[in-house]
Amino acid sequence: MTQNMTVTRATFDEVMVPNYNPAKMVPVKGEGSRVWDQEGREYIDFAGGIAVNCLGHCHPAMVKALTEQGNKLWHLSNVFTNEPAIRLAKKLTESTFADRVYFANSGAEANEAALKLARRWALDKFGPEKDQIIAFTKGFHGRTFFTVTVGGQPAYSDGFGPKPGGIEHVAYNDLAALEKQMSDRTCAIMMEPLQGEGGVISPDADFVKGVRELCDKHNALLIFDEVQTGFGRTGSLYAYQQLGITPDILASAKSLGGGFPIGAMLTTKAIAEHLKPGTHGSTYGGNPLACAVAEAVYDVVNTDEVLQGVKHREKIFKQKLAEINAKYNVFKDIRGQGMLLGAELADQYEGKARDFLNAGGEEGVMVLVAGPSVIRFTPSLVIPEADINEGLARFERAIAKVVG
Ligand SMILES: *Cc1c(COP(=O)(O)O)cnc(C)c1O
Repeated sequence: MTQNMTVTRATFDEVMVPNYNPAKMVPVKGEGSRVWDQEGREYIDFAGGIAVNCLGHCHPAMVKALTEQGNKLWHLSNVFTNEPAIRLAKKLTESTFADRVYFANSGAEANEAALKLARRWALDKFGPEKDQIIAFTKGFHGRTFFTVTVGGQPAYSDGFGPKPGGIEHVAYNDLAALEKQMSDRTCAIMMEPLQGEGGVISPDADFVKGVRELCDKHNALLIFDEVQTGFGRTGSLYAYQQLGITPDILASAKSLGGGFPIGAMLTTKAIAEHLKPGTHGSTYGGNPLACAVAEAVYDVVNTDEVLQGVKHREKIFKQKLAEINAKYNVFKDIRGQGMLLGAELADQYEGKARDFLNAGGEEGVMVLVAGPSVIRFTPSLVIPEADINEGLARFERAIAKVVG
């Protein structure tokens, strides 16, 4: 086998486990918000690697951090600490409610750590009866068996044998239902401060405040899964910072590494103390390479220029989508926050989000779906206005094709 052997999308089916069904084209290169495939065709990227590539592809600050660290030190394990990890943790604690950080390699792992910490905290402080975890229907928290069971889509957690217990679900934005489920047995509530995979659903302001109050009333921890909403995505470093409440534990990943795999769990000093030496860990979590890249991403993202730019781009995007909709009447709702936007299809196109995604690909624009009837846009936080215009012009052609 040589490095230059020819592989195609067809090879995928011969060598990969069939749990994914990727697009027909194979991307080979990216720069900013543009991507090229094996045939040299160019695409505008509104998918951003599913809300990961927050600075687009191959941003110079990330490439610099990666190459510099790549020539210094890649991996040590947690037998040793390292400077990039400590620096990144310092920056994260300085700019959030948190005093302590645990590094992982993905969103699921950050959430897994959050859930295990909550259970251990409750056990230490209140005893084994306090084990109930409540989460929300349509929520998504990752694919480990614990996190996927806490996620509110049974289709993802069924079929793998006995599930972790003590987990219950109520409808998002239904405070009365949550209040009914909660008691002093409740250990933690896990929620996204804006449901991403579940259809780009914002929480009502009263709902979030109510959840916080119920957690306080019953001595339960509030865990915010900010894997998708975090790191500038909604126009503040974390979404909770615009909601007027503070969680007890927060999970971050996706944009945190800008494309390099890393996850983080943030919490307070008092809660962190319950994750004593040996209680949890990861071989790669907090490795210098990932942390050096994430630090570079942080330095660019956590600036007024970028965060206010996200709000500005949200306005342009929503405005243009509304203009397209005025012509074609395909959406019944255009929603979301920052660069995490959703367009829900009108009733006559219900269940057809994938058709629009595929047509977009044919016209040279990459978009996402969030469920069967919502088109999702999670582009780079610094996508140039010209790329927004060009990408949406292409998407308009895709819409014309589908509705035509
Ligand atoms: C993507 C996502 C996850 C899972 O992250 P992985 O890195 O795929 O494990 C968890 N929670 C939310 C809200 C997500 O969007």
